[in-house]
Amino acid sequence: MSKKGGNFLCYTCGVRQVIHLDLDAFFASVEVLLNPQLQGKPVIVAMGNPSGRGVVSTASYEARKFGVHSAMPLFRAAQLCPQAIIVPVRHRVYSEYSRRVMNILREYSLLLEQVSIDEAYLEIPAEQDAKTIAKEIQQRIKDEIGLDSTLAVAANKLVSKVACNTVKPRGFIVVAAGDEERFLAPLPVEKLPGAGRVTREKLKKWNVQTIGDLARVPAEELRAEFGKVGEYLQRAARGISDSAIETDRDTKSVSQENTFERDTRDARVIEKELRGMSERVARDLQRAGYRARTIVLKLRYGDFTTITRQTTLPAPTRDAQTIVSCTANLLEIHWDSRRAVRLIGVGAHGLVAENAMWQMELGIEN
Ligand SMILES: [Mg+2]
Repeated sequence: MSKKGGNFLCYTCGVRQVIHLDLDAFFASVEVLLNPQLQGKPVIVAMGNPSGRGVVSTASYEARKFGVHSAMPLFRAAQLCPQAIIVPVRHRVYSEYSRRVMNILREYSLLLEQVSIDEAYLEIPAEQDAKTIAKEIQQRIKDEIGLDSTLAVAANKLVSKVACNTVKPRGFIVVAAGDEERFLAPLPVEKLPGAGRVTREKLKKWNVQTIGDLARVPAEELRAEFGKVGEYLQRAARGISDSAIETDRDTKSVSQENTFERDTRDARVIEKELRGMSERVARDLQRAGYRARTIVLKLRYGDFTTITRQTTLPAPTRDAQTIVSCTANLLEIHWDSRRAVRLIGVGAHGLVAENAMWQMELGIEN
C-alpha cells in the first residue's frame, strides 16, 4: 500500500509503457472553449484582481508570448500584456472538464494516476500498443471535449514526464525503450525532476549543464555530496526509474451494473445479463493487467432493497469462465426468485497486478 492509500504496484519485469498526459494551458483553454470570442487572444486566468495582489493562475499561449507565466503577480502580467483579457479562476468548472478527460483515460487502463487537475500517468499493459492508444486519447480529448493536450509515451513515469514537457503544446512524443539515456542527455539539467536551484548550484563544481553531463558524474561523488538524492540523480540522469503508478480509489475495483428496462423475474433474462456483465468485468481486468481476489454480486429488487454477496477465490483470477460461474453461483444461492429484479451488478475487488502476481508466485517480497 502506498502513502496515499491507493494500490501500490511494483514492477520488476518486462518493459513498461507509461503515457504522461498534460492538458495545454488548461484553465485558459476551458475559458476559451466556453467563450469562443476569446479564441486567439491573450487570456489570463487569475486569482485576485490586477490592482490588488492578484496572481496569474494560467496564461493562454498567446499571453505567454508576452512573457506572462503562472504564479506571476497580476499587475506585472498586465504591464507585459496590457491587452490581455483577465478572467477569474473557476475551479468547479475546470474540475468537471478534468473529470471528463480522466474518464476517457480510464477507458484504456485502470492503472491511472492523476497527478493534478490537468496531468496524469496511464500505464498500458505490455501486450497493447501504447503509441496508438496515446494518439487516440489525444484525438478524443480534442474531438469529444474540445481541449488540446500533450502526450508522451516512455518506459517509465520519469522519462514520460520529461519528454512531455519538451513538446508542449499539442505535442506527441514516444521515447523508445532503451533510448532513455540518449534522449535525456542533451536536455538542460533543470528539466530533470528533482534538480532544483540548490541542487544545480552544487552541481556546478562538476560543470553540469545538461542531463548528459550529470550522467557522467561518478556515482560515488554524487552520493558523497547528496546522499540518497545523489543515487536518485545518477539513475534519473540515465532515465532509470521504477516508480509505480499510484492508482486512486476509483480504480480499486472493476464493476459493471445494469438496470433492466422493466423489473424482471425471468431467470433466463437475468442469467444472460449476468453472464455478459461477468465477461465484461473479466475483459476489463485483462485490459488493466489485474486479477481479482473477490467477486461481488449486487441485486436490487423492484422495491429498491439491495443485497450484495461475495465470493473470495482461492487464487486471484481474470478468467471470464471463473467469474461467470462465480456470479451464477451467487445468484442461485441468494436471489429470492419470487421477487422481481430491478438492477444487477458484478464487481471484482481485491485487485492484484499481474506483475505482482508473478512476484507472489516466485515468493519474492517487495
Ligand atoms: Mg498543463
